[in-house]
Amino acid sequence: MKRVFSGIQPTGEIHIGNYFGAILNYVKLGEELGKNSIYCIVDYHAITIPHEPELLRKRTFDAALVNMAAGLDPSKVILFAQSDVREHTELGWIFSTQTPLGDLERMTQFKDKSSQHSVLAGLLMYPTLMAADILLYKANTVPVGEDQVQHIELTREIARRFNNRFGELFPEPLAVHNKDALRVPGVDGQGKMSKSKGNTLGVLEEIDSIWQKLRVAPTDPARVRRTDPGNPHICLIFDYHKLFSDLDTIQMVEVGCSTAGIGCIDCKKTLMKGVERTLVPIQQRAQELYSTPDIVKDALHEGAREARQIAQQTMQEVRDALGLLNP
Ligand code: ATP
Ligand code: MG
Repeated sequence: MKRVFSGIQPTGEIHIGNYFGAILNYVKLGEELGKNSIYCIVDYHAITIPHEPELLRKRTFDAALVNMAAGLDPSKVILFAQSDVREHTELGWIFSTQTPLGDLERMTQFKDKSSQHSVLAGLLMYPTLMAADILLYKANTVPVGEDQVQHIELTREIARRFNNRFGELFPEPLAVHNKDALRVPGVDGQGKMSKSKGNTLGVLEEIDSIWQKLRVAPTDPARVRRTDPGNPHICLIFDYHKLFSDLDTIQMVEVGCSTAGIGCIDCKKTLMKGVERTLVPIQQRAQELYSTPDIVKDALHEGAREARQIAQQTMQEVRDALGLLNP
């Protein structure tokens, strides 16, 4: 049986990297697998960096709302907030007692994020909590962007180690990707688009605000004059075209850029058509949901109830296997 789990952090505005890299796959797999696709707003992960309580609550709600506006139907899948299902932290603790410190210290995300903030112990334990999120549901498939591959590999090791030591309980899950959006670049052209880096184009961001960011976004630096041919394959804007534009447009700008047939501003304006076509319907659905917030709250409530049933069953088995008292 295929079972999917994935999480998204309420650390900021959901952006097009999250949308193309993860949420599109949530929707697709949700249609295929129904209640065997489980999606979580991982608020316990979000507090591994300093946070504002009111903002966290709002962002958790917003993250659920954006997923629903993007097409996730909570009556068909399981959608919930992590802190609503206490078993996540329980299994996370257990895994942290079984995982060598060195495995956690070598994680790229830890090295990256610990250079941006004062380092909280929870940031180091992020991957053991993530392993718990996935394995609590015995999920074997995890739709994520490329940045999470290392954490999924560690999850597999944690599952393997647990199974060897305490008996076969967990599958070894595999990451699945949207191959067109493995690592959507930030609008500043400096690495991955990330909520915490502020280099995002938000799914709910006003179209004009997106245009203002794209207008000044870097392109091929060798293309100084309009008449210089450019290299689309090193250009951020071409990366975005591959996400938003239809095949004919992608081909047209690829040829146009490399023959100086299209200027950067026109290329960006063409991109905006695809941006609008993709985001405006999501933004309209989001507006409707903001005017009926109980729909989102009820969905999270019901999702947590469904998730708890699976999580509690797994924890019984884990407690038995570990020799903990089983209440
Ligand atoms: P933060 O900066 O707080 O870590 P984030 O933008 O990296 O936020 P996450 O909540 O950590 O977003 O990730 C949610 C999902 O989106 C994960 O599956 C992750 O792999 C995917 N994802 C995040 N950024 C990108 C990106 N730039 N391209 C493709 N997928 C991405
Ligand atoms: Mg991240």
